[in-house]
Amino acid sequence: MADKKVQQTLVLIKPDGLVKSLTGDILSALSNPKRKIMGAKIVRVTRELAEEHYQHLKDEDFFDELIKYILGEYHTKRVLALVYEGENAIKEIRKIAGATHPEEAHPETIRGKYGRIHSKTNVFENVVHASADEKDAEREIKLWFRPDELVHTIFPTESKETTKTELFWK
Ligand code: UDP
Ligand code: MG
Repeated sequence: MADKKVQQTLVLIKPDGLVKSLTGDILSALSNPKRKIMGAKIVRVTRELAEEHYQHLKDEDFFDELIKYILGEYHTKRVLALVYEGENAIKEIRKIAGATHPEEAHPETIRGKYGRIHSKTNVFENVVHASADEKDAEREIKLWFRPDELVHTIFPTESKETTKTELFWK
C-alpha cells in the first residue's frame, strides 16, 4: 500500500531556526519512534549549494533574497541538515513543517509557530525545509550528503578512485 512506503527525506533547519535556538523544539516536533535520523550535519552553505537546492525557483523575483536567507546573511551562516527515514516520512514531515507561507501555516506546525515574513525582503522565513516528494527527496539528499555520511541509504552507490586533496587534523 502506498501509504506504508518507507521513504527518506531531507530536512533543513534554516539559519533563522538556528539563530532563534529552535533546534530542540524542531527535533522534538519531528521525533517519532517510527522515524529514524539517518544523517545529520551542520553546514556552512555555499552559494553553489544554495542555488542548486532552490534551482526550481531561479526565475522568481525573490530568488536572490531567498539565496541570501539560506546562506545566513540575515541570521547565522549555518544550516542543520538531516535525513529522516520512515513510513510515509515525506508527507508526514511536510505536515509537521506546515504550509510554505507562515501566515497560512497551521499554528500547531513548526512554520505556523515560528515562521515570519521578513518586512524588508518579503522572504518567508519559515524555519525549516522539508522535501516535497520522492523525486525532490532523492535529489536533495544526494545534493547535501555523500553516501558515507549517512548510516545507510536506499539509493544505489558506486566506488570511484579520486585524487582529491582532503583536510586532516595535524
Ligand atoms: N519562498 C518565499 N516566497 C514565496 C515562496 C517561497 O520566500 O513566495 C521561500 C520560502 O522560504 C520557501 C522556499 O522559498 O520555504 C522554497 O519555496 P517552495 O515553494 O519550494 O516551498 P517549500 O517547499 O519550502 O514549502
Ligand atoms: Mg520546496
